[in-house]
Amino acid sequence: MKIGLFGGTFDPIHRGHVALARAALDRCHLNRIYFVPASVPPHKQQQALSPFAHRYAMLALATAQERAFIPSLLEAPDELATGVSGRERPPKPNFTIDTIKRLKQSLKKSDSLLLLMGIDAFAEIAQWHHAAGLFRECEFVVASRPGYSLADVANALPESLRPKPEVTRPFRKQAATGDLVLHGAAIHLLDEVHQPVSATAIRQAVSAGKPLGRFLDPLVAEYVKKMGLYQ
Ligand code: ATP
Repeated sequence: MKIGLFGGTFDPIHRGHVALARAALDRCHLNRIYFVPASVPPHKQQQALSPFAHRYAMLALATAQERAFIPSLLEAPDELATGVSGRERPPKPNFTIDTIKRLKQSLKKSDSLLLLMGIDAFAEIAQWHHAAGLFRECEFVVASRPGYSLADVANALPESLRPKPEVTRPFRKQAATGDLVLHGAAIHLLDEVHQPVSATAIRQAVSAGKPLGRFLDPLVAEYVKKMGLYQ
């Protein structure tokens, strides 16, 4: 089976996330995609987030209609997974390399794992914990955005995997699409995700009392209102 792993903060999950997952499902012929909300996203440790339970509940609502989309507790806080409060301990950031290894324990040898993300996240990939190791563990599916090219993607790679500029120069003027297969890294580029939305913009719209617009699943929008999130 081909399995997708899609991590994020999902505060809240929006149409951009769902469009990315749907494009990956179709283009890469994935059998299922695990949506993994991070309890403690390593790059957002200084940022106030909605409680994990709310982010997970919204994710479950937004993915309920698609059988291949599976809400995952792989990065749930310890107390949710074990029932034991871990409040005395400082929360540990959720590193994707650890999540991949944990997920792989439940997969068959013949299964392949693909890590899904937007190109904005991929642009920072060299700074991720054990970045080069991630490319050994799985293939990548990167949703492009206007203005990015294959050369940008290749240049974001950890230094040990980065191709020479003469290899990527011819791609600079082309739209980012297709597969980039390098020694030690396989990256599938999806160019059809054009959802101009971010969770930040949604939180700001709610707190300014603006309509939530078309970027939230109606059930998620209802949940946000009902629970008084982002006020
Ligand atoms: P925030 O605005 O709070 O930083 P976000 O909207 O970027 O949040 P995240 O949960 O941080 O959402 O993102 C999870 C993943 O989804 C990342 O890999 C990110 O690149 C991708 N992503 C988020 N929004 C979009 C979008 N509109 N189009 C394509 N990919 C997206």
